[in-house]
Amino acid sequence: MEIFTGQNLLEFTERFKTNEDCKEYLAILKAESDYKCLKCAHSSCQNRKDFARQCNICGHIESATANTLFHKVKFGVRKAFFICFEMSTSTKSLSASYMGVRYGITEKTARYFMLKVREAMSSSGNFPMDGNVHVDEFVLGGKEKLVEVMMERKRKQ
Ligand SMILES: [Zn+2]
Repeated sequence: MEIFTGQNLLEFTERFKTNEDCKEYLAILKAESDYKCLKCAHSSCQNRKDFARQCNICGHIESATANTLFHKVKFGVRKAFFICFEMSTSTKSLSASYMGVRYGITEKTARYFMLKVREAMSSSGNFPMDGNVHVDEFVLGGKEKLVEVMMERKRKQ
């Protein structure tokens, strides 16, 4: 799989047509780092058709979005990908009310998600900031050929 790079909205739209496309992308990125079961700390898993991973020992299922910026987003992972893409490719600062209108979500929802994205962006390259969250960044396309969308992983320690 190729990491998405660039700022081309049409290419981005073509690449991420469905929520499933986004989950598959996350799953592939996750597969590049070592697996460790969140429940029993075992290090091998099966990949499921829904892009989740299942521990070979205890059967714990970790969804594709678990431990990422996209975990439990109410408006769908694809919309969240687009918001990240727009935030990372725009040269202007975007307001929550504007993004709410553009993506059909409430201003409050937009503000909350955008805050998470900004936090992840600002702490990237500098982790762990507080010993609680660490951020892996991956390339999704954008400014200077390097746009970050982040995976945050709560450290179990
Ligand atoms: Zn396990």
